[in-house]
Amino acid sequence: MSGRDDMSRYAVVTDSYFDGERHHTDCPYTVVIEQGKITAIVAGDSSRELGNQDIPVKKAAFIMPGLVEAHCHLFLDGGQLEFNARTEYLNVSGEEMLAVARSNIAANLAAGVTLVMDAGDRYGVNHDIRLESRLVTVRSAGWALRRPGRYGGFMAREVGSRDEIAAAVREISRTADDLKVILTGIIDFKAGLVKGEPQFNVEELRFIVSLARELGLRTFVHCSGVAGLDVAVVAGVDSIEHGFFMTSAHLKSMADQGIAWVPTVSPVNFQLQRPELAGWDEQTVTNLRRIVASHLCHIAMAADLGVPLIAGSDAGSHGVPHGKSLIEELVFFLKAGLPMSTVLRSATSLPRIRWGAESAKIEMGYKADVIALSGSPCDDPRHLYSVKAVFR
Ligand SMILES: [Zn+2]
Repeated sequence: MSGRDDMSRYAVVTDSYFDGERHHTDCPYTVVIEQGKITAIVAGDSSRELGNQDIPVKKAAFIMPGLVEAHCHLFLDGGQLEFNARTEYLNVSGEEMLAVARSNIAANLAAGVTLVMDAGDRYGVNHDIRLESRLVTVRSAGWALRRPGRYGGFMAREVGSRDEIAAAVREISRTADDLKVILTGIIDFKAGLVKGEPQFNVEELRFIVSLARELGLRTFVHCSGVAGLDVAVVAGVDSIEHGFFMTSAHLKSMADQGIAWVPTVSPVNFQLQRPELAGWDEQTVTNLRRIVASHLCHIAMAADLGVPLIAGSDAGSHGVPHGKSLIEELVFFLKAGLPMSTVLRSATSLPRIRWGAESAKIEMGYKADVIALSGSPCDDPRHLYSVKAVFR
C-alpha cells in the first residue's frame, strides 16, 4: 500500500471502477489527479501519452471511493479478547488510549477506510484522535447520552430531567459531529432478548432529536429489541444502530421516514463463532444462531424496502478489530443477498451523503479519496480484503 501520495500530478490507469454509485466496466480507464483533485477520467489506457508528458502513472485493477466505517469505538482494541484486560484497560492513561486509537486508525487505513464515525467514548479519545488523524477522517460523537445507572457507562454521560437533557445536548453539540443516544441495553444472549425498558420514552427522544437538529446534529441511536425500536421509529431518529430483533413493520416505517439502519452484525456474530470465550452454553449458542440468521433476513428485507442501509462494524467491541471488521460487515451484507453495488454504496456514497460529509465520488471535479483493490469485488468479493493503495 502506497499511503499518502505527495506528487501533485499523477494518473491511475484502472481496469474498472465503482464511482460511489455504479460500476464502470467497459474498458480500462485513466483517472488524472492534480493537486488532490480528479481532473479527468478518460476511457482507455493513456499511459504512453502521459509518460511522454512526464506524468507518473500507477496501475490498478480496480478503484473505488475510500470506505466509510459508520460505527466504531476508536479507543477500544477489539482484538483484545481477555475480559479482565478489557476491564483493566478502562483505567489506563489517556496517552495509552490515544496510542490504541492511533493503531486502530492505521488498521482502518490498511483496510481502505478513509472516514470513520466514532460512536462514543467517555474519555474524549475520539475528539483527540479526530484532531490529529490525517489520511483517515474522523467524525466524533464525543459523549453519548444515557439514563443514570443504565447501560453505556464507557461511552455516555448520565442525564435525568428534561433540563439536564437539554443542557447536555447543547454542551455536546459544541464539539461533536453527531449526537449518540443509548436508548436500550445490550442483548442478553442467555435469555435471547433485550432486558429492561428503553432509557428514554417517545416524547423525550423526540425532544432530543429536534433539539439536536436545531443545533445542526443528527441523532444516531443505540437500540435493540422491539420496545426500543418502537420508540426510536416513532421519535424519528436519523439512524438506528444495531437494531437486533428488527421487524418488517419497523423496517417499513424506517423506509417511509428515511431512517437509516447500521446493523453491526460483527459483535454478535463473534459471540456465535467463539462461544467458549464467554462460556456460552448450548441454549445460548442456539439463541445467537437464531439472532444472527434473523438479522441477515431483515437486512435483506431492509434493502428490498429501500431502508438506507449503512455498514458499520462496532469495531472495538469484544472480538471486533478495527478495519477488517468493516469488510466482514460488507461480506455479511453480501451473505444476506444484497447486490454488490448496494453493498459498496452502504460504505461509500450513502453515509457521506447522509452525514453531509465531503463526497468521495470518482468523477471529474471531486477530491481524490480513492482506494485501489487487487481486483474487482464483482469478480471475487475477496478482493475487498486486499487494498493495494490509498490515493488521498
Ligand atoms: Zn457501539
